[in-house]
This record gives sequence, structure tokens and C-alpha cells, in this order.
Amino acid sequence: MVGICTALALQERGHDCVVVDRRPPGSETSYGNAGIIQAEAVEPYALPSNPLVMLRMALGWKNAVALHWPSLPRQLPALYSYWRSSAGTPLRKVIPVWHRLILEAVPRHEALIRAAGAGDLIRTRGYWEVHATGAGLATALLDAERRKRQYGRAPRTRLRRRHGCRRRP
Ligand SMILES: Cc1cc2nc3c(=O)[nH]c(=O)nc-3n(C[C@H](O)[C@H](O)[C@H](O)COP(=O)(O)OP(=O)(O)OC[C@H]3O[C@@H](n4cnc5c(N)ncnc54)[C@H](O)[C@@H]3O)c2cc1C
Repeated sequence: MVGICTALALQERGHDCVVVDRRPPGSETSYGNAGIIQAEAVEPYALPSNPLVMLRMALGWKNAVALHWPSLPRQLPALYSYWRSSAGTPLRKVIPVWHRLILEAVPRHEALIRAAGAGDLIRTRGYWEVHATGAGLATALLDAERRKRQYGRAPRTRLRRRHGCRRRP
């Protein structure tokens, strides 16, 4: 994503570009993501500060991450850096810059989608977040409403609460 977008931006400015990658296009992180243009992500996803929540994530009790334990030692420096950047002060510094970048996400993607004639691959009706417990849903709604108030994402953000889903036994 980053490499191709940089090459496209340079091409727009009249430069010749060659992208050299060790793998076929879109194979690594950009292959495995959820496929959402994340205009709602007005704050970066921080690592939780609660060690209990982190433990539950690490043990796979939450679906936030799927750890590949053998590669964990190699990932430790990056994880440590992520953990440090997730603390209140560094995070608060990053948020205004991040927020400005995220505001660009939809219009920038729209231009690329139009140029690629890929509009039929895109759905613009938002996405569903499903919570297994009422408490989890209430917390997520409060947070989404806070972000909406704080960052004014109103044009693209609509929150609807729906009931009646059951968990499979
Ligand atoms: C599970 C998951 C879900 C996500 N969901 C979303 C989402 O829904 N929406 C969203 O906006 N973001 C999402 N993200 C984040 C998003 O996918 C990443 O931020 C983005 O794909 C990163 O792009 P990238 O170009 O930096 O990395 P990559 O796509 O990993 O590209 C890096 C490229 O560098 C190449 N490379 C590495 N080393 C070398 C080398 N030595 N020589 C040559 N080439 C090399 C690799 O082969 C690769 O092609 C998600 C991330 C994850 C992990």
C-alpha cells in the first residue's frame, strides 16, 4: 500500500518509478487486512494499557490478534516500541497528525478507485461491529459517540444499535 501509493504520487509529479518487491503485489500486510477504508479510525489503534486485557489478547481469548508464537522473539523490539507509543503522552502527540491523514483516506482512495475503474469492488454502506455482550456494545458505542463529538465524523459515521442477534452455543 505504502510503496504503490508513493510510486503513484511520484508518477503524478512526472517521475518514472519502478517498484521492487520481494513478493507479488499485495501479498503481505496489504493482503491480510479487513479491506475497510478506515475513515472512522480517527485515533490510532493503541495497545491496551491493562495487562489483563493484553494477556487475554495474547492467549487468544479476544479476536484482536492471532499471535504466531515462534516469531514473537523477533517481533519484540517492534512490539515494545508499539507499547511505548501507545502510552498517553506519545499517543496524544500523534493523534492530531493521524486525524488529518485519516480525513484524506476516503477522497484519496476515491480518486484511485475511479482511475482503476474498480468502483464495482467497493461498498459504501459502512461496516458492522458485532459485540457478544451488552457491556461490550455499550462501551464501544460510548467510545464511538465520543469520537464523533470530538472529531465531527458526522458525514460518514452513522451509529445504529441493533438487537436480537444471538450467540451460537
Ligand atoms: C489483520 C489486519 C487487518 C487490517 N485491516 C485494515 C483495514 O481494514 N483497513 C486499513 O486501512 N488498514 C488495515 N490494516 C492495516 C493495513 O493493512 C496496513 O497498514 C497496510 O497494509 C500496510 O501497508 P504497507 O505497504 O506498509 O505494508 P505491506 O503491505 O506489508 O507492504 C510491505 C511490502 O514490502 C515488501 N518488502 C519487505 N521487505 C522487503 C525487502 N527487503 N525487499 C523488497 N521488498 C520488501 C513486502 O513484500 C511487502 O509487499 C490491517 C492490518 C492487519 C494486520
